[in-house]
Amino acid sequence: MPVIELRGVCRRYDAGPPALDDVTLTVEPGEAVAVLGPSGSGKSTLLNLVAGLDRPDAGTVTVAGVRLDGLGEAASARYRRAHVGMVFQFFNLLDDLTVTDNVVLPALLAGTSRTEAHRRCAALLESLGLARHAAAYPGRLSGGQRQRVAVARALMNRPTLLLADEPTGALDSASGEDVSRLLTELNAEGQTLILVTHDEILAARCATRTVRIVDGRVHSDEPSAAARPSAGAVR
Ligand code: ADP
Repeated sequence: MPVIELRGVCRRYDAGPPALDDVTLTVEPGEAVAVLGPSGSGKSTLLNLVAGLDRPDAGTVTVAGVRLDGLGEAASARYRRAHVGMVFQFFNLLDDLTVTDNVVLPALLAGTSRTEAHRRCAALLESLGLARHAAAYPGRLSGGQRQRVAVARALMNRPTLLLADEPTGALDSASGEDVSRLLTELNAEGQTLILVTHDEILAARCATRTVRIVDGRVHSDEPSAAARPSAGAVR
C-alpha cells in the first residue's frame, strides 16, 4: 500500500490561479521524494495537505491509509501525532525548554508515559550525536545542532512520514551537508521522506526521486539524477 496517495487534488485560495491544480501523486514506503519548484509553485500547499494541516477543494488525499480530505481538526491532529514528523527551515524549537524537553514533547502529547518518552529521547539523542547537549537550551547550540534536535523531535513518535521544508535553508554549507547526510541515513534505514526545497544539490544528495512542481502542477517526476549505489557510499 502506498504511504501517500493524492488523486486529482486541487487547492485554490480566494484569489488568483489554483495553488495546486489536479495533482495526482503516489509515494511508496521507503522513498525519499524531493519536491522542487520555484517560489509560489505550490510546494508548501502540497506539504500542508499531506500533513493534514490543510484540505483540498477537490480530489482525495490518503496517507498511511487515512483519508485526510474532510477530516476534522481533532482527527487531523491525531493523524499528525501518529504519522507525521515535521522539520522546518527555522527549526521551530521552544527556546525556553531544554533539548530533552523539546524532544519528549510530541511523545507526551501523544500520551506516551514520561519514562518511555525519556528512554526514547535518550536513545535518539545518542544516535544523532546530541547526548551531551541533552540538558542544553537550543539558544546555546549551532544551527546544525538545532536542526538535529528538530529531527530528533520529529522522529520521537516514530512517524510513518518525515516531512522536511527547506531543512538546510537557514544553515551554513557544512551544517547543511551534515543535515542532508542525516536525512540520507534515516532514509537508508527505511524512513519515508518528503523534502520540499529549491536546493537542487540537497535534492540530488538526499532524494531517490524528484518531483518538480510548476504552477501547481506536476511538471516532472523522475528518479533522482544521483542514484545512490548504496547508503554506505554516501557516508
Ligand atoms: P511554494 O511553497 O512553492 O512557494 P505555496 O504553496 O506557498 O508555494 O504557494 C502557492 C500559491 O498559493 C502562491 O501563489 C501563493 O501566493 C498562494 N498561497 C499560498 N498560501 C496562501 C494563503 N494562505 N492564502 C492565499 N494564497 C496563498
